[in-house]
Amino acid sequence: MTDHVSPEHFAATLERLRDLAASRHAGVLELPTIASPDDLQQGIDTLPTSLPSTGWGFGKTSGFLLKEVTSVLAPGHNGTRYFGFVTGGVTPIATIADILTTLYDPNVQVHLPKETLATLIEAHTVNLLCQLLSLPTSRFTGTITTGATASNLLGLACGREATLKKAMARRGFPDWSMAEDGIGADAEDDDEAPAPPPVNVYVATPHASIKKVAGILGIGRKRVIDVGQKAHGSSSDLLENEDIRASMSIVEFDLVHLEVSLRESYYKKQGAIVVVGLGEVNTGALSAQIPAIRAVCDRYEAWLHIDAAFSAFCCLLEGFEWISEHLAMADSICSDGHKQLNVPYDAGLFFIRKKEVGEYRIDSLLEDVCGLGQAGAPAYLATGGPEENLEDIALDIAKRREYAASLPSPLFRNLENSKRFRALPLYATLLSEGRQGIKSMVERNVAFARSLEAWMRSDEGSRLYQVLTPPCEPLAEPESSSTTSPQPAASASTKASPQAWHGPWSTTILLFRPHPLTCPIPSFRSHLTGADACISALKATRAIYVSPTRWCGVGAIRLAVSNWRTGMEDAEGRVVQDVRESRDWEVTVQALKSVMEGEGKDEQEQDDEMVGSG
Ligand SMILES: *Cc1c(COP(=O)(O)O)cnc(C)c1O
Repeated sequence: MTDHVSPEHFAATLERLRDLAASRHAGVLELPTIASPDDLQQGIDTLPTSLPSTGWGFGKTSGFLLKEVTSVLAPGHNGTRYFGFVTGGVTPIATIADILTTLYDPNVQVHLPKETLATLIEAHTVNLLCQLLSLPTSRFTGTITTGATASNLLGLACGREATLKKAMARRGFPDWSMAEDGIGADAEDDDEAPAPPPVNVYVATPHASIKKVAGILGIGRKRVIDVGQKAHGSSSDLLENEDIRASMSIVEFDLVHLEVSLRESYYKKQGAIVVVGLGEVNTGALSAQIPAIRAVCDRYEAWLHIDAAFSAFCCLLEGFEWISEHLAMADSICSDGHKQLNVPYDAGLFFIRKKEVGEYRIDSLLEDVCGLGQAGAPAYLATGGPEENLEDIALDIAKRREYAASLPSPLFRNLENSKRFRALPLYATLLSEGRQGIKSMVERNVAFARSLEAWMRSDEGSRLYQVLTPPCEPLAEPESSSTTSPQPAASASTKASPQAWHGPWSTTILLFRPHPLTCPIPSFRSHLTGADACISALKATRAIYVSPTRWCGVGAIRLAVSNWRTGMEDAEGRVVQDVRESRDWEVTVQALKSVMEGEGKDEQEQDDEMVGSG
């Protein structure tokens, strides 16, 4: 160590950190979305690039972090109007939990219930998440990953293990396992099973991470096969015809094509995985096809993986309970905590169907894929968790103790050995918010996106912008309070059937573009480059942030609402019932209008208005 950090010095630095956290919390509604061009330039020119031989020490380095480093980070990346990607934010309670995670730095690796209960808290967290999603814990188990990409990786790895095992059994090798035997085989060796057949992954407009993990796992990116409806029809002229409803079909599976493909895989004795995106990446569209896809998967022994990274929690909305039923049809499920649940990054969720009771030694394919196999597994892994519904054990002390004693160690059911206590911010959030709190977080996000949609369809907004999804049906007027809560019309009956594109569907994403005919800025009207030009102008306001995408061959703008606080408060910081009374609404609509006036404010004016980042 270069210097001894006295308790007083450490405490004084923590005070500065505390002040920074408090001022960001208090001033979040005015934080600029991204760093200023000058600060970024300064950072590029001056950030240290070489290792000091004598370290700077704690004092200088902490000063550097609090000043130089904070000024080159996007101040409002976890603020209320960063609508790019799906970023989420961090609730105050998740912030506290995350700091505790660092402070204690437990290694959630081996289950040592006589020493620490970090692993038990992780297991409880997974169970609370199952309860939130209404996934029966008697049938599902799971783990917490680094993100949805890692969850997709686990899902495809388990799907590969399961379906290749079946395919190899059909080829006459019932004891073969991908995890155990691997991809290679020596043709000369008579005792050896032959190399395994391919695994085909069937998708419709998937998230890019599916191809990424197919590459990593050796499934092969070319084996990710699009059987979406767009794979056959010409989609690029759909928008030319202004037929936006028809354009939505590109995110749906062509079920006939899927069935033909799965049958072919089956008879060729190959592996097959179907990945359904629940919450399509561009539109947030919720697939209504899962029951039909489950049925086809069952017919041909295929694995069903659902990628519900940002939309799983829409199951909490009235009229959308069916999402839980559909999720429970999956073999494996990916979701994210660092998006809609607003915990810090490093929180992916993975759920997997448990193995049949009695038939197996341990409780899911995770152990087969991530463990050391029959021969290598240490004795303490040789037990499985209790099979009863975990909600039932809460009041029974003996069962609680039995559960705590029999938990498998996390290291053989996930990618990592050593692992951050990333469960704690989730655990804290679930306890602090409860089902109602998380429901209202999702509701407010949906209300903000759908209210913006309504504005873009109004006389004022529709001249400037064109929404690229079919209209959400008019919201039913609720009896009390909020006029914008996302009550789909069909929620009159308690459980609406999934009507993904036709009925009152609603999610947190808004897909749009500058109006190609009537928007006042000529360069924004181009089908190909207009959206990008508009996005640059929107970003330059530093008041809101949105991302580019392509939709049916044209440039489009994607606005994703995912922060717990978006639309919550008015300019005075009072909580509002209607998101349209919020400061975020005012600033967002103003930004969307101002770029159409072609007179973006200059940087200096913006900076004067906004609270600084550091
Ligand atoms: C964000 C996202 C992913 C990737 O998640 P990371 O947490 O960034 O790894 C995968 N699928 C979908 C649908 C997503 O929205």
